[in-house]
Amino acid sequence: MEKMTKYALVTGASRGIGRAIALKLAEQGYSVIINYASNSAAAEQTLSDIVANGGTAELLPFDVSNGEAVATALQQWKESHPEEYISVVVNNAGIRKDNLMMWMGPSDWHSVVSTSLDGFYNVTQPLLKDMLVKKWGRIVNVASLSGIKGMPGQTNYSAAKGGLIAATKALAQEVAKKRVTVNAVAPGFIKSDMTADLNEAELKKLVPAGRFGEAEEVAELVAFLVSDAAAYITGEVISINGGIYT
Ligand code: NAP
Repeated sequence: MEKMTKYALVTGASRGIGRAIALKLAEQGYSVIINYASNSAAAEQTLSDIVANGGTAELLPFDVSNGEAVATALQQWKESHPEEYISVVVNNAGIRKDNLMMWMGPSDWHSVVSTSLDGFYNVTQPLLKDMLVKKWGRIVNVASLSGIKGMPGQTNYSAAKGGLIAATKALAQEVAKKRVTVNAVAPGFIKSDMTADLNEAELKKLVPAGRFGEAEEVAELVAFLVSDAAAYITGEVISINGGIYT
């Protein structure tokens, strides 16, 4: 009997942590749907690296914060894959617009909250029904240390990631009986474009492990949460931060 293809959608998979997750899930046999906002060259690179490793993937660009754009793209995907469903979604797309609250303008507040939090809703809600009907699904939300402890200079980002963590816990309880798990990972300092402007030499002193993490290390954790071995873990927030106490 031919093996069913399993599809995993990774948002923000053109670069950084999302790219590492896409590569890892492809290695595990998933056909990966690579979402991104605008960097087509980076997304094409993720795609060609997956294919070069013997995996399969496709590109599906949309802005996760734009509900209509997400709905249209997911509808088109369904129409072109009428027999299949997306069984894994990794809500990874996110942005930072740091500033002290005192000087934070409304667009910096709304863009950060809507990318992480509305993005979670816009992408997950339309995919949920198929997971429930098929009685198998995995939702992994990429939160942050900031969403657990709050970080000064990041009220917007902390609110977005804190909201994402609370949504993870609520949704997990709604869907657990249908063998759909919902978990969050909370990275600390991970090397990527998002942290390229940070003073790594100084900040790594705050990390008990004495270094920033690698995107691939986060990908390993996500791959475990997506696996059958993690079927009894749901509603959890797993820190991956080199030992920073939360
Ligand atoms: P990154 O290197 O800046 O990559 C961000 C990715 O998200 C890119 O693929 C980007 O696409 C995509 N993206 C941004 N806005 C989007 C939108 N509106 N719609 C669709 N895609 C969008 O960031 P990263 O460090 O890998 O971070 C990934 C996730 O981990 C984020 O949620 C971030 O908050 C979280 N996180 C990161 C760290 C860290 O230390 N790096 C720590 C904790 C949590 P384009 O290439 O098209 O721009």
